[in-house]
Amino acid sequence: MPSERWWPWSCTLQPIPSKSPTLHPYQSWGRYPRAEHTRIVPVLWRSDPPALAEVSEKVLAYAYGRSYGDSCLNAGGALLDVSRLRRFITFDEARGVLRCEAGVTLAEVLALVVPRGWFVPVVPGTKWVSIGGAIANDVHGKNHHRAGTFGAHVTCFELVRSTGERILCSPDRNVELFRATIGGLGLTGLILWAEFRLKRIPGSQIAMERIRFSCLNQFLQLSRDDQEYEYTVAWIDCLARGSALGRGWFLRGDHVAGSGRAKDDNGPAIRVPVDLPSGVISRATTRVFNTLYYRARIRSRQKRTLPYEPFFFPLDGIGAWNRLYGGRGFLQYQCVTPGDSESAIAELLQHVARSGETPALAVLKKFGRIPSPGLLSFPRPGITLAIDFAMRGSTTLDLLERLDQVVAHAGGAVYPAKDARMSGPSFQRFFPNWESFASQIDPKFSSSFWRRVTAA
Ligand SMILES: Cc1cc2nc3c(=O)[nH]c(=O)nc-3n(C[C@H](O)[C@H](O)[C@H](O)COP(=O)(O)OP(=O)(O)OC[C@H]3O[C@@H](n4cnc5c(N)ncnc54)[C@H](O)[C@@H]3O)c2cc1C
Repeated sequence: MPSERWWPWSCTLQPIPSKSPTLHPYQSWGRYPRAEHTRIVPVLWRSDPPALAEVSEKVLAYAYGRSYGDSCLNAGGALLDVSRLRRFITFDEARGVLRCEAGVTLAEVLALVVPRGWFVPVVPGTKWVSIGGAIANDVHGKNHHRAGTFGAHVTCFELVRSTGERILCSPDRNVELFRATIGGLGLTGLILWAEFRLKRIPGSQIAMERIRFSCLNQFLQLSRDDQEYEYTVAWIDCLARGSALGRGWFLRGDHVAGSGRAKDDNGPAIRVPVDLPSGVISRATTRVFNTLYYRARIRSRQKRTLPYEPFFFPLDGIGAWNRLYGGRGFLQYQCVTPGDSESAIAELLQHVARSGETPALAVLKKFGRIPSPGLLSFPRPGITLAIDFAMRGSTTLDLLERLDQVVAHAGGAVYPAKDARMSGPSFQRFFPNWESFASQIDPKFSSSFWRRVTAA
């Protein structure tokens, strides 16, 4: 008999760092663009969702705003705040199947399941993401080459449409709506709860190896062994040029036995209290940081065992780190280029290094071949590059437009969850399924992102 646990209605609510009174709660992580919403509709009970037909404006679900751009914004419309939908429903501890409301965070799921020998099958770079948000962006993690996207582990969910109809979707029930909702940017309706499979782990520790590489080609060679490791990712120095182009540190790791706790178990150890002046993250400071970080360690290979949080969520250790970029905000550019050729990535990095812009954090990862289940899912086989840019106005936007052209020419795509500016033609080229997806949209739902990329 599977041992199923029932929670009456509440779970241990962990404070969400962004719901601080000093930060406007309904913005995106990059804080660009800003949006004014006409109203916020709280979603309190899965048994009694709001009557969406009675809301006069277009609506969009909003969880914790960990999307960087405008896919979680609905300027001039209403937001459905799902952050109170945070109850666990069932946990089949023997089979590792969890059902919970859509606003439950990955942090809460991990706190529940890790001590019982389970882990979330796919985690992004922050644990402050809701289950609904993980489905709507079909998020990926450091194990994409072994596990695919989050959506590949979802067994079913309940969607409420604006007509009031409640639809159970799974890989074999209401399949079209299931495929449209995974990676569907919140446009097909409101997810009330979801069920997904967990992954067995021997303990809460990660055995990590860190390897310095001096150029892109070395990164590709290291990535060729990636099937031997559950998790792989690389940090790169995006201002290096010439023969050092694409140099960085390759991280790989696996779950191992052990039960050490992370320091930030009770929230971030430090917090950025105010918006820093925009000059603090500049090309000069980034260059110094990157060079020091690249050369920081004497040995070019290191092994260590650490708790899972700093391995998966290093940035969660600094509360409100998005304020480091100042009041104008920042943009993350994440793209994927097909195959494992370095030429398109090299061209992108050359554009970045030659520009006068301020790229900060940059990450490189090889995606695997496991197909994404969603019609609009972003991951596909190839190499994904993610770079944060301080927002400096039109010069930043011009650079990103040039990067789009390189990605389009290579046959790749840009990630909507991170985007605040790609053009309609670029989006439609990157996501050729967009028209068949559009037929599944609930007419009452819309977002700033969707209006932008489908405007005539
Ligand atoms: C530091 C950091 C690291 C990140 N790393 C990664 C990474 O490695 N991989 C990756 O893929 N992403 C990554 N992300 C992006 C993040 O995982 C996604 O944007 C995620 O979807 C945000 O979830 P959220 O709960 O904050 O949702 P929000 O940002 O509030 O909303 C995201 C989308 O989900 C929809 N949505 C939310 N709840 C519901 C619901 N109940 N019903 C229907 N639609 C809903 C919204 O309408 C919106 O379209 C990262 C973000 C940060 C800040």
